[in-house]
Amino acid sequence: MEKQIVIVGAGLVGSLWAVYMSKRGYSVTVYERRSDIRKAEIVAGKSINLALSDRGWNALEKVGIADEIRSELAIPMTGRIMHGTDGQLTYQPYGKEGQAIYSVSRGGMNSKMMSLAERSGNVKIVYNHACKGVDFEKSEATFLNTDTGKEIHVTADAIFACDGAFSAVRYESMQKQSRFSYEQRFIEDGYKELLLPANEDGSYKLDKNALHIWPRGRFMLIALPNEDGSFTCTLFMPFSDGKYSFDNLKSDEQVVEFFQEVFPDFYALMPDLVKDWNEHPLSALAIIRCFPWSYNKTVLMGDAAHATVPFYGQGMNSGFEDCYAMNELIEEHGDDWPTVFDAFQSERKPNGDAIQDLSIHNYYVMRDFVGDADFLLQKKIEARLSEKYPEKWMPLYSQVTFSSIPYKTAWDTGMKQEAIMKEIMKQPNIREIWETEELERKILAQLE
Ligand SMILES: Cc1cc2nc3c(=O)[nH]c(=O)nc-3n(C[C@H](O)[C@H](O)[C@H](O)COP(=O)(O)OP(=O)(O)OC[C@H]3O[C@@H](n4cnc5c(N)ncnc54)[C@H](O)[C@@H]3O)c2cc1C
Repeated sequence: MEKQIVIVGAGLVGSLWAVYMSKRGYSVTVYERRSDIRKAEIVAGKSINLALSDRGWNALEKVGIADEIRSELAIPMTGRIMHGTDGQLTYQPYGKEGQAIYSVSRGGMNSKMMSLAERSGNVKIVYNHACKGVDFEKSEATFLNTDTGKEIHVTADAIFACDGAFSAVRYESMQKQSRFSYEQRFIEDGYKELLLPANEDGSYKLDKNALHIWPRGRFMLIALPNEDGSFTCTLFMPFSDGKYSFDNLKSDEQVVEFFQEVFPDFYALMPDLVKDWNEHPLSALAIIRCFPWSYNKTVLMGDAAHATVPFYGQGMNSGFEDCYAMNELIEEHGDDWPTVFDAFQSERKPNGDAIQDLSIHNYYVMRDFVGDADFLLQKKIEARLSEKYPEKWMPLYSQVTFSSIPYKTAWDTGMKQEAIMKEIMKQPNIREIWETEELERKILAQLE
């Protein structure tokens, strides 16, 4: 008999995992709380594009769907363009020649993966079924059919909870277990999305192959390109406190004044600012940590296990990497689920914690430093080092974005590099000596 697998949530991670499990020959049923997003309109103001990078691509490649996604959905962004208040633009490449991160539509990506999962023949997606909890001993999940109001109980050989940051499996069932650790931390900042439309002829108003940032210290605006010539722009800012906070931008006049003063070049391009501002929701951002991630034959994956803030663009990528890692462990241990899940959480929990630390760290970098001349010089020195001594120095951003080095290792090495560079940048004549071999030797000696 075919082994029955249940996946809770047909989001980004759940639908990719369905492809993996179907390819392994399991009979997969995915239960999704919402209706079929391929038939629903995408809600404006709900994060419509995401940055996909190497870890995500590796996981897509493993099941042979990367090329389809690349050709249909992905726009390469080779670097950041920083927008100063004076309209000055500064470009900083993300990595080496040929390296890029990719802007993909969240809805497009999710729809595509659901279709690929269904196409595999072993996957059924059941909509309008909200998980109400799991009985770990019986390996039985309960779902509420939101159309009929009736509950159903489903047993499975294994249950994969991919139901996102506010996971019902975690909340309803794991949090009721003794010694389950749980921490939910909302940061002080929220975000609001604005849509910068295409020009009338469909062309882009900004350079299409870059991620645009307006760094302003305590807050920032970013923009990622969409396929239709528009950009999804996101303002990250404190909810309260300070002159510039969401609480202090109440009236239309205050909003207009704020954008004119702080983001003048953006304001000049944006036709429906006040309308977008009033219509789009203000959302909160949280980091959620928990442990263990598994009980018996049920396990958490993706945001359900390690939701993070979006500043490294790694939430989806790390969830996709979970799929890759879980697949390798099934390869090694077969379907001895408690053993597989135990190995999974031992390997992935330190990396989940590390990507959360990295994400917060990168928030400060993006918000406070990317427009700073010393920061840009430091990055140039690091880029030179990595070009000349790739085996000795890989910048933190590249470790996270363009490699599969475990996040935990990237975090540890990155913090060590950061401490070295902090001292190096204090040298008063750094601008004169930054390209010298003597400086390179000095930096590398400190790695030993
Ligand atoms: C503003 C913003 C920008 C981001 N940018 C990036 C980026 O650039 N790059 C990146 O890699 N990541 C980014 N992320 C993170 C990324 O969106 C998440 O990490 C990713 O969506 C996680 O996928 P998931 O499948 O685990 O969860 P989700 O995508 O949240 O999917 C969970 C699914 O489970 C369903 N569900 C929920 N509860 C139940 C239930 N009780 N029963 C059944 N189904 C249920 C939901 O309807 C949903 O379909 C960003 C996030 C935000 C908020």
